[in-house]
Amino acid sequence: MRCTVVGAGAWGLSAAAELSARGHRVTLVERHGIGNALSSSRGPTRLWRLADPDPLKIRLSLRARDAMQRLERQTEATLHLRRGMLWRDTESLARLVAALRAAGVPFTEVEAADVGRFFPGLAGDGRGAVFQADAGVVLAKAYLAAQAERFRAHGGRLLAGEVVAVEATRQPAVRLADGTILTGDAVVVAAGPGTGPLLPSLGVPLTLRPYLEQVVHYAGIESSALVPGLIDGPVPDGPAVYAMPTPGIGYKAGLDVPLRPLGPGDDDRTPDPGRTAELTRRIAAMFPGATPTVVDEQVCSWTDSPDAASSSTGSAARRCWPAATAARDSSTPRSSATCSPTSRRAGRRTRTSRPSRSRACARAWTTPAGRRPRSVRRPFRMSERLSVTLR
Ligand SMILES: Cc1cc2nc3c(=O)[nH]c(=O)nc-3n(C[C@H](O)[C@H](O)[C@H](O)COP(=O)(O)OP(=O)(O)OC[C@H]3O[C@@H](n4cnc5c(N)ncnc54)[C@H](O)[C@@H]3O)c2cc1C
Repeated sequence: MRCTVVGAGAWGLSAAAELSARGHRVTLVERHGIGNALSSSRGPTRLWRLADPDPLKIRLSLRARDAMQRLERQTEATLHLRRGMLWRDTESLARLVAALRAAGVPFTEVEAADVGRFFPGLAGDGRGAVFQADAGVVLAKAYLAAQAERFRAHGGRLLAGEVVAVEATRQPAVRLADGTILTGDAVVVAAGPGTGPLLPSLGVPLTLRPYLEQVVHYAGIESSALVPGLIDGPVPDGPAVYAMPTPGIGYKAGLDVPLRPLGPGDDDRTPDPGRTAELTRRIAAMFPGATPTVVDEQVCSWTDSPDAASSSTGSAARRCWPAATAARDSSTPRSSATCSPTSRRAGRRTRTSRPSRSRACARAWTTPAGRRPRSVRRPFRMSERLSVTLR
């Protein structure tokens, strides 16, 4: 099959490498280069985990972990570090425990006063937690490099260019800004925040909502490289925090709330000092014995759907698949202050019962219906998200 993949972020690059490895002729079109500063996939690390209150996410995450290990064996590179994860919350904990138990994934329930035993330096605050050992960090930069190498090794072609339209004709056509038209048998659209504008010509009724978020690396948190990942649910005066070790840099943390909506042409990735200060206060309260020192700050893009339910859908008849980036859902500990679609457009934050997000990353195995190579395991059904939960 001749395939075109649009976007060389974690999703598109993975899809392109996998399709190439399966023997397809793949052209990967990317406008700013692999790992570029405007993409969602930039940066050294991402949190990954099996733990999630949604059983589907656990199933996908188990497959993601296996795939990550396969990739490590193929490339002889270290792409993820198993450090475990502590999930502290009130509202989501019972569902998390039930889902892990049902999936047969081992975990430890942690008393509120005992969290420091699993995360040295973390102060108890009356909330219980769950520790799950199959979690840690994806070394995101190394991961992209490994997939890029795999893509090249299997004869994939990387084409610099900007896609302006994808036409879902019998033979899907991808139009580039310079007038080039790529035709073939299948197209995967994995353009992150650039996916939305390409969907109407595909007839895919999926609205995407790109926005920016900010993460900060801290020095001064207990032996950063060895501590686990953390999801710290919302507290009365603040949203949830996610955090993970980045070896060689520090402990990375982010507030689980958008910085601002991402509009077309917004290339400004300047960190917001107010957001960093808010996060630093929270981190200092969580680790009273530490002096968290900001090492760096980074702003990057997220994309999900306004209803939080979809991150990917497909048009099998037309052989075109958009693979978007991340989905908010009802499973992860919710921020007491998240943004509703309406309020976010207006740049306001509201209190809502809307859920927090699941983090998705890196793998979109896509095969047109009825064209599955015999040697390949069943791809995810299109009704399942093509996302693999990491955070
Ligand atoms: C602050 C922050 C923290 C995060 N933390 C985590 C975490 O802990 N765990 C986790 O799993 N996930 C995390 N994520 C999410 C994760 O990084 C994203 O889900 C993932 O990187 C999305 O990859 P992508 O390939 O969909 O998009 P992108 O990386 O944005 O890739 C899309 C690519 O398409 C290209 N492109 C766009 N439009 C066009 C066009 N028209 N023509 C050609 N090329 C185009 C872009 O240049 C880009 O390179 C985080 C994200 C952010 C911002």
